[in-house]
Amino acid sequence: MPEAEHRVVTIAGPRTLRESTEAFADPAPGRVIVDIAYTGICGTDVHGYTDGHMLPPAVFGHEWTGRVSAIGEGVSGLKVGQRVVGGVGPACGRCPQCVAGHARQCDTVFAEANGVDADAPDHGAYAGRVHVSARRLIPVPDEITDIEAALVEPATVTFHAVRRVAAEPGAIVVVQGAGPIGLLTAQNARNAGAGHIIVSELSEPRREMAAGLGFTAVVDPGDLGPSLEDVSDGLGADILYECAGVASLLQPSAELVRRGGTLALLGYPLQESTVSYADWQSRELTVIGSLAYSHEDFVGTMRAIAGRRIDVATLHTGTVGLSALEELLEELDSGQSQHTKVLVNPEG
Ligand SMILES: [Zn+2]
Ligand SMILES: [Zn+2]
Repeated sequence: MPEAEHRVVTIAGPRTLRESTEAFADPAPGRVIVDIAYTGICGTDVHGYTDGHMLPPAVFGHEWTGRVSAIGEGVSGLKVGQRVVGGVGPACGRCPQCVAGHARQCDTVFAEANGVDADAPDHGAYAGRVHVSARRLIPVPDEITDIEAALVEPATVTFHAVRRVAAEPGAIVVVQGAGPIGLLTAQNARNAGAGHIIVSELSEPRREMAAGLGFTAVVDPGDLGPSLEDVSDGLGADILYECAGVASLLQPSAELVRRGGTLALLGYPLQESTVSYADWQSRELTVIGSLAYSHEDFVGTMRAIAGRRIDVATLHTGTVGLSALEELLEELDSGQSQHTKVLVNPEG
């Protein structure tokens, strides 16, 4: 049983963090205590910090890995010391979606992904420890380092989207935006048999990172149209993954997709946007919305990382201690940061 107190950082209001200390007693039945190794910072954390109210507490610091330090009653299959990633459980079999036969859209899993399930912890993993339901933990294989394990969650978001699209081999794919989500989507699309991938990104360092990951068609958004026209003989993309989350890009993105092609939505725009319904309908576009993931998406993603088929480590551009979290969130919000993915080590 862990005894020492640990630090916890939560959102107290717009652009305001609160640091406190906490000590856990024994884990509740069905739950375990995990000592956090690293927690990634993602766009959702930045929005939650600047907004001050929108995030459920468990979601602030949702990309984490650590070691099991205590196990509650009734938990099987986990050992003290085992490395784990925090994800979502398997379909529950009891919620209305499961009972109706739609296990892939399990309500319990959806609530876990959004940090609002009945067992959701009252803070995220910008903390020394978390107390979580055992069903949400996915064991980390030896081949995966702690740093890579901390990047499993965002990789899983993209694995899920590419799996939902179920592209045919040889497809012409455009990935719009080469932030962490775009870079991971492009790698999953490559694994899924894409014939040609164009990565479009405004920032030069991010374009360089995409090139370093082996993508040969990496362009400035201004050059995307001509380069797509060239490779598709003017038809457009078979699939476009929208990973920028910019509302005003939705219709222009759709127009890059060929008639009968697929528009896949991963970026999460915080504003409403205007699209041409008539255009989408008359050109018979398939639109795939994608949010979060399933338990099996985590397992599949970890296999791909362990098998060196998704490179997550390259995305890691820095590690800070918990004390520097606020400063880092400000830097990431400024839009001036050179970082791709920053991890937080709770000891610092
Ligand atoms: Zn995230
Ligand atoms: Zn269910």
